[in-house]
Amino acid sequence: MEKYGSRSFLIILIAPSGGGKSTIAKRILEDFNRTTYSISYTTRKPRGKEQHGVDYFFISQQEFEEIAAQNGFLESALVHGYYYGTSRKFIEKKLAAGKHIVLDIDVQGAMQVMQSGVDCVTVFILPPTISELEKRLRARGTDSEQVIALRLQNARREIAEVDNFDFLVINDDLEQAVQDVERIIKTEEMRICRKKKIIENFMEV
Ligand code: ADP
Ligand code: 5GP
Repeated sequence: MEKYGSRSFLIILIAPSGGGKSTIAKRILEDFNRTTYSISYTTRKPRGKEQHGVDYFFISQQEFEEIAAQNGFLESALVHGYYYGTSRKFIEKKLAAGKHIVLDIDVQGAMQVMQSGVDCVTVFILPPTISELEKRLRARGTDSEQVIALRLQNARREIAEVDNFDFLVINDDLEQAVQDVERIIKTEEMRICRKKKIIENFMEV
């Protein structure tokens, strides 16, 4: 459906942990009522104030395997020792309803979605330096020193994959980074391949 003048697509935000994905995703969802968020399924346990059905669907490994066996995940991956997956049904339903869907998933998952043929735009988000990333992880206060060290180590590996994706946004000033991602979305909406219906309407065919 091209209710809003262009076919809808997935907006995949990729960043090392602490890069600013959730902060930026929240702003996009507030600013564009055409966007919705894909709540992932995970086998990890809730942290802090996280709620089932809001932050994630927290499920057992057996439940995860059952969904996977029924081809229920558009993509899935093992991240930091736990399984994570995106519901295929949710994505199909929302795209059909004309919504863009924001996904906060890891590098492996993003590559699977790109290979699946589902229309998506990938945005890699990076703080200005690795020491700034470390500072933000500490300031967030959700991780132990050991976990921070592991996340920084993983960050180096994830950054090496940056060439696989469409856009790079530097998250130095948050307002600028939000504006940059929103500009990408607006530009992507103008791609001719997503505007076929408008052209048909213009020609009155
Ligand atoms: P992610 O979802 O990628 O793990 P978060 O959105 O949780 O990252 O951001 C990590 C921390 O950095 C949070 O405490 C957030 O408030 C902070 N943060 C995000 N963007 C900026 C920024 N541009 N400047 C300073 N702090 C930021
Ligand atoms: P956290 O457990 O800290 O919320 O997330 C850990 C990592 O898992 C992050 O990099 C996040 O982007 C990724 N992640 C969250 N949901 C999914 C998902 O559905 N699929 C994949 N592949 N990664 C996910």
